[in-house]
Amino acid sequence: MTDGWKARTKAVHGGTRRSQYGEVSEALFLTQGFVYDSAEAAEARFIEAGPDEFIYARYGNPTVAMFEERIAALEGAEDAFATASGMAAVNGVLTAMLRAGDHVVAAKALFGSCLYILEEILPRFGVEVTFVDGVDLDQWRAAVRPDTRAVFFETISNPTLEVIDIAAVAEIAHAAGAAVIVDNVFATPVYSRALSQGADVVVYSATKHIDGQGRTLGGVILGSREFIRGTVEPYMKHTGGSMSPFTAWVMLKGLETLHLRVRAQARTAVQLAEALDGRDELSRMIYPGHISHPQHALCDAQMGAGGTVIALDLAAGQKAAFAFLNALSVVVISNNLGDAKSIATHPATTTHQRLPEARKQELGITPGLIRLSVGLEDAQDLIADITAALDVARGNS
Ligand SMILES: *Cc1c(COP(=O)(O)O)cnc(C)c1O
Repeated sequence: MTDGWKARTKAVHGGTRRSQYGEVSEALFLTQGFVYDSAEAAEARFIEAGPDEFIYARYGNPTVAMFEERIAALEGAEDAFATASGMAAVNGVLTAMLRAGDHVVAAKALFGSCLYILEEILPRFGVEVTFVDGVDLDQWRAAVRPDTRAVFFETISNPTLEVIDIAAVAEIAHAAGAAVIVDNVFATPVYSRALSQGADVVVYSATKHIDGQGRTLGGVILGSREFIRGTVEPYMKHTGGSMSPFTAWVMLKGLETLHLRVRAQARTAVQLAEALDGRDELSRMIYPGHISHPQHALCDAQMGAGGTVIALDLAAGQKAAFAFLNALSVVVISNNLGDAKSIATHPATTTHQRLPEARKQELGITPGLIRLSVGLEDAQDLIADITAALDVARGNS
């Protein structure tokens, strides 16, 4: 039914299941289990559950199924599995599909917990991981091997906002017989076309733009029906990483306003990037939607917009970065992103604190770097707040 609908219609109506009461808003089935009419019916359901038959919330739940169907429709995926957090999704997809002896190639600019899984956990189980500079296609070409089972990257990297060419990396990976798994948080479902560009599996932390209001953790894995139901579901339902019905209900309501929120946030991000470009306190203003970004053309072709996050590098280093953060009055200091509230983060001392200095340098996580997640406030208020804080930082440097 959703096939002919445009994205915004899918985001509002996709996956809706109504109970016998005909409720308008999605029902929250806050139940861990389900009763059966007879012993025979219980047996039959354990042999094979139909699309509207549920057994136990770790396996599936009507509210969670609505969220899975809605996000799958939106992403253009055959199916989806909803998880307890973004990390449950990343860990789930990798551990569900990999086995000892497999090889993985990953971009080295990754969210800290993704890095932990690839660097610390997978090798413990005999999976070898090679890290490459994600924007350098020659490094991908050199790294893939006949035993490479998967490649993994963030389509826009955290926190330095490098844009990775999905189609080009997919071509290299597929030629080697490897699956392409992308962590698509920074692209958001609004600007993602990752599956049609060659990704086999798309992962989101729904904690970010899908909730978008800082309330709950969640994640989702999207891909072919065979992969989701044949590989991901058996692993997830037995290992306990499923999304709770309450979270699914929050995320369903989040999807209804996703396009309005993300487009407004991205529009404000463009205005901010323009206002901040060329400020002499900054050694770098990184925004993939700005003409100054080295992969601006790629970003435009791949997503059609620059997203909702900007990175600023204060030339005078950490003291100036801290003075800047402490002078903000609208933007809050925190570490989420994609939220209605604009959030500033100092990655070097928080999200990426544990990386050795040399790694930070290699990844461009400098002492002056600030990650700015642009929220839903008035753009003029944000520009005023941030430029005033830059003035304070200048006085402190
Ligand atoms: C936040 C984030 C995650 C982890 O998601 P959680 O919901 O916090 O578990 C993974 N990848 C990226 C790129 C993220 O930004």
